[in-house]
Amino acid sequence: MAEERAFGPVRLIPAANQGRYPHSNSVYVDGAGILIDTGADEARYRALLAGPGVKEVWLSHWHEDHLKYLDLFDGLPLRMMADDAEPLTGIEAFLDCYGMPQEEYREYWRRVLPADFQFRPRRPTRYFAPGETIDLGTCTVDVIHAPGHTPGFTAFFFHEPAVLFMGDYDLTRFGPWYGDRDGSIDETIASVRRLQRLPAKVWLTSHESGCFEGDVSGLRRLPRRHRRARGQAAGFPRRATRWRRSSRSASSASRGAARLLRMGRRRHHGQHLERLVKNGAVVLKDERYQRV
Ligand SMILES: [Zn+2]
Repeated sequence: MAEERAFGPVRLIPAANQGRYPHSNSVYVDGAGILIDTGADEARYRALLAGPGVKEVWLSHWHEDHLKYLDLFDGLPLRMMADDAEPLTGIEAFLDCYGMPQEEYREYWRRVLPADFQFRPRRPTRYFAPGETIDLGTCTVDVIHAPGHTPGFTAFFFHEPAVLFMGDYDLTRFGPWYGDRDGSIDETIASVRRLQRLPAKVWLTSHESGCFEGDVSGLRRLPRRHRRARGQAAGFPRRATRWRRSSRSASSASRGAARLLRMGRRRHHGQHLERLVKNGAVVLKDERYQRV
């Protein structure tokens, strides 16, 4: 089991399954009893509840791998950004926000969300104000609105230990995701640039080891996707209905998750192509993309 890491009062709670989906790392603030995200590990959460205790739960965003164990914290105050509250109001709203039109996919997720993620309609007790600074007693934290991955995505910069929790703007091979209905490549790039400018010494993220010290660049996966999109642009239809199957996603994730991944990859590709059109590297001719 991975070790917890502490930087002053800020602790990284490592997720089960080596931080891979459907789990995600959490952050806990000693003294204040704040837990950020609830997708890490049931046993660790039970120990936290029995030990120093949890006073309030914060969410970085609405995705299911960050809510998996939210049931354990029933009755506690729940805070998140208002822009991300809609998908938590019910399963249909949740699937709409993923941009999932196919009834077959929706049927799968209607079963999986309550069974595997204890999904039920929830309403936060309070919303963050973008840019607010909160005094937690043991440290102060800046609440940073960082849209792109989701519209209300929130990162947290803890001043005194100079720790930045940037959640799913992670540094894994997969790179940041902006394939949902409201995902945006331009907002993702702007948000990652804003996060890169903060004077952090430690960067915590939601997946895999989730702890980085030294020089990091959250954007390093984006140019690679961009080059690939340009390379594949010739003749790519604007409204693609089929997408190449990925053997990696089909073998490593459940069928439903693999489909979601394929759907997201198609949207990523589409967003890169639209961006190349805006930049003049690719043109749209007869509803197909062509390299200039
Ligand atoms: Zn996410």
